[in-house]
Amino acid sequence: MQISPVGYVRSPYKQKFAIPRQPGLVGEAVGEIIFAESCANPNCLREIEQFSHLWILFQFHETAEKGWAPTVQPPRLGGRKKVGVFASRSTFRPNGIGLSVVTNRGWFQQGGELILRVGGIDLLDETPIIDIKPYLPYADCIEDAAAGYAEAVPGENYSVIFTPDAEQFLTSVLAEYPELRELITGVLKQDPRPAWRKKPKDEKTYGMELFDINIKWRIDKEEITVFQIEKTEN
Ligand code: SAH
Repeated sequence: MQISPVGYVRSPYKQKFAIPRQPGLVGEAVGEIIFAESCANPNCLREIEQFSHLWILFQFHETAEKGWAPTVQPPRLGGRKKVGVFASRSTFRPNGIGLSVVTNRGWFQQGGELILRVGGIDLLDETPIIDIKPYLPYADCIEDAAAGYAEAVPGENYSVIFTPDAEQFLTSVLAEYPELRELITGVLKQDPRPAWRKKPKDEKTYGMELFDINIKWRIDKEEITVFQIEKTEN
């Protein structure tokens, strides 16, 4: 089997840490799929605007070299209990292929490139896209589906607050990043800490990068305080 990507994603997520663990959890995370030359033909997208949501298949390129094991320890289960790789959405799988449902935000052409905008992504910057298909409610939406250990929607118990300094930065970049506050809030509500770090008392300072911006926060039980936001140096 030989696969060549149909395109690559441009994403605000520049590092694995803090990317939500599934799509749709942070709707403000918008990415752009830049089509490879072989697929950079608007005919490939004809009538795609009829679909509000799309499935994206992609390669977990960042972790591809790390291989896989028959069992994984999902963060949901506190990183302790093991489940089978095929009973999980772990990135460490035999063929390293990811699957995400995203919102269709339309396509355009710019500087000779064909670009499709997609929302609610959980993809790292530069992820190779293998395929795109329309989401079909009649086939893909199963109202009474059971999801065992992954039943609950994550992140609902957390609140995120910004210090005056952080607020000031947000205001200063509002024109360039109008949804930055919502993006940061959505991402942090997911509590990106690894499972083993989730202790009631946590004095560590955490940092993450979104676009070209560094964000620092602390967490006290379920209250997250963003105290510094600044542009990265390079
Ligand atoms: N919705 C997908 C992904 C689930 S795993 C699926 O179910 O198949 C989600 C994690 O994948 C994210 O938290 C992020 O850290 C990781 N990820 C996203 N893009 C990646 C990439 N290109 N390479 C490796 N890991 C990636």
